[in-house]
Amino acid sequence: MNKFIFLLLLLPAISFSQNTEKIARIDSVLTYLYQRQLFNGTVLIGEKGKVLYKKAFGIADPRTKTPLTASSSFNLGSVSKQFFTMMIMILKEQGKLNYDDAVQKYLPSFPYPTITIRHLMNQTSGLPEYFDIAIGDLTLADTLNNESMLALLAAKKPDLVFQPGSQWQYCNTNYTTLASVIEKVSGTTADQFFQQHIAGPLKLSNTYIYNLEMKSYPPSRVFGFSYEKGIPVLNDLVRLDGIVGDGNVYSSVEDMYAWDQALYTEKLVKHSTFKEAITTGKLNNGEATQYGFGWFINAPDKTVSHTGGWVGFATLITRYIDKNQTIVVLTNSSDARAMSYVRKIWEGESIPLPTTHLITNVNVIDGSGLAAFPAAVRIVDDRISDIGSLTPFPNESVTNGNGKILAPGFIDSHSHHGSGLDTDPSAIAATSQGITTIVIGQDGSSEPIDSLRAWIRKTPVSINVATYTGQSTLREIFMQGDVLRKATDVEIDSMKVLLAMELDKGSLGLSTGLEYEAAFYSSPSEVIELAKTTAAKGGRYISHLRSEDVSLEEAISEILEIGRQAKIPVQISHIKIAMRSKWGSSDKIIRQLEDARLQGINITADIYPYTMWNSTPRVLFPNKDFESLSSAEFATRELFDPAASVMVRYTPNKAWQGKTVSEIAAINQETPAQSLLRIIRESAAPDEGATIVATSMSETDINNFLKWPYTNVCSDGAMKGHPRGHGAFPRVLGRYVREQQLMPLETAIHKMTSLTAENIGIQQRGLIAPGYFADLVLFDPETIIDNATVENSGLLSTGVHYVWVNGKLVYQDQKAIANFSGRFVKRM
Ligand SMILES: [Zn+2]
Repeated sequence: MNKFIFLLLLLPAISFSQNTEKIARIDSVLTYLYQRQLFNGTVLIGEKGKVLYKKAFGIADPRTKTPLTASSSFNLGSVSKQFFTMMIMILKEQGKLNYDDAVQKYLPSFPYPTITIRHLMNQTSGLPEYFDIAIGDLTLADTLNNESMLALLAAKKPDLVFQPGSQWQYCNTNYTTLASVIEKVSGTTADQFFQQHIAGPLKLSNTYIYNLEMKSYPPSRVFGFSYEKGIPVLNDLVRLDGIVGDGNVYSSVEDMYAWDQALYTEKLVKHSTFKEAITTGKLNNGEATQYGFGWFINAPDKTVSHTGGWVGFATLITRYIDKNQTIVVLTNSSDARAMSYVRKIWEGESIPLPTTHLITNVNVIDGSGLAAFPAAVRIVDDRISDIGSLTPFPNESVTNGNGKILAPGFIDSHSHHGSGLDTDPSAIAATSQGITTIVIGQDGSSEPIDSLRAWIRKTPVSINVATYTGQSTLREIFMQGDVLRKATDVEIDSMKVLLAMELDKGSLGLSTGLEYEAAFYSSPSEVIELAKTTAAKGGRYISHLRSEDVSLEEAISEILEIGRQAKIPVQISHIKIAMRSKWGSSDKIIRQLEDARLQGINITADIYPYTMWNSTPRVLFPNKDFESLSSAEFATRELFDPAASVMVRYTPNKAWQGKTVSEIAAINQETPAQSLLRIIRESAAPDEGATIVATSMSETDINNFLKWPYTNVCSDGAMKGHPRGHGAFPRVLGRYVREQQLMPLETAIHKMTSLTAENIGIQQRGLIAPGYFADLVLFDPETIIDNATVENSGLLSTGVHYVWVNGKLVYQDQKAIANFSGRFVKRM
């Protein structure tokens, strides 16, 4: 056979088989999605007038369960826009208007004299979005329509977002205004004009404009819905839907294909007229946009498309005009993902299918504080998709919760686990407690966001990480390490610039460690200036106070003043009373905090459930007089119990590590105060260091602070050292909730999850709710307890069975699971 003829015969065969393969793949993916309640709708794929694929999946109405067909009519949402521009093109060909006419020529009350019809069609008018204008003026009984919208524009005359023609910005008001122009110029309703000039001539029997002010609707109308507790529930038109132009054309996949094919002919308008609709618009400066008249121009002369999304509905038309191929996807179950799957498979892209996982037979404590309830919870990819009496989909993986508690993963608002992630990216110290998000950058010291993100990308971790930006770190940078003094105005200005940049990159806010020397000498006004910068960016303030003992009251007044002056939410880190003669004053402090809240200061706190803290022994000298014996004596009397306080790290003499200060005193035949001075002196030498776990709080105060409704739980823990690093959260649930019955379990979970998310300013975590990230912990409320002690601080807790981070299992029964699914979490 002649080679040339052979090739000619082969080519169509290849393209035919490629199409067949793609369609088989699309059909199996749609089936997979439909079986998992991730798709409900109709799809059509056509080429050169021939339908290659046409199929309906699911129901047209959640109440009647009527099956969808290829002639069922969906609300097209914004795919409607192309029909309204077609009506304008028809009116132009009828000689009734010109694109460059001022809108005012037809709508005299329209308050912007320089906006033209072309600006509206091209989305370059600068009009503001009508939802925002209308919503404040609508009562619950009102339905918005085009006339009332136009009256609102005339009455309010909201500022333009930009000068007409100077920018491109997608805006629905452009198209509601176009509908008003069509009605005015044609002297009829948009729907009548549409039927007469488009639907009628093209015999689109299931295509029409429908709005809520119409008395009845055609039988082909599809209703939007969403799945709630596994059951389809109506999710359809709202009171804005008396309006048309931006949406509210209804059509079926069959009619959409007839429409698409008509656009290759001159049945409606001339080729030259339509050609302009699928050519990019131009700004005043000549720059091309990516939009024509109701069409996105993805690739000029090759691909044009539009998507639509409106309560319950998600729609897509993509036209490959160089090949005369067309995809139409119409969905009514509030789930848009099928659209991109169909389009990407057709365009030859590979895409991973969503995975679903069902956790059955659990008692859900959802984090809101509401009572536990029995349910199953479904995860789709990284999100919670549904909660209720759910049954597994075909071949779905299932975890049986055996009646245990399923709660949102715990958020640790004050964590030092970050520094240990290098050596243990599984973060088992935290995940074994049920913690799924750690908040670092505490006590005034932080890492730059860029390096943190780069590092998490390079070394994936099993836990989410959010961070504050630390004041001491800013001081170190801009005061060249000379931090034992007040910062100058110039230095403060530099700090503010960097802080603002970090906030833009997702920092939660400003953290301070005012008790520590790197910040102790800063003036209150420096902190307030930085807090104002933080407030302007929507960030928050969290602080290890200037004093937790001798000057605690003044330190609390300082943080309240910061909240008052900078108008910023303020959080007290690890609230405590670390001074014996002040024990029992927690009631008084709480009253002070409550008073401040009444004055409008958003003050909150976090707390860890131990009577001992962990820090440098230098904090035992509130006046920074590290050589004063009388101060050391005061410390041993008031600030810590030398017999119950352990040097967990002591580099000058490792033999003393693990010994109490009293034991060290006995070895040296001196008083504990003298030993304290010795410890300070020896560990101050270059390259030496000391860490003490010091017992200094009372259980009564811990109970009071823990119960305060605005206190969330934190660990303040690290991978090593104080047992809180491995035990804080299970200790609250076992010791304070189960054994001491300090508060209901639901309240404690709230203080570990959604209250924390609120206190630190992150969203979509901290609740078990549809759409939230699937950070989850399954635990046994009967057995959960911490095991870590000062002597054995790495012991894992009992009773935590499963922990998921972003939908992936990272911990199961004392073992880390190597799914490093943690992410950097930004302030929202
Ligand atoms: Zn601290």
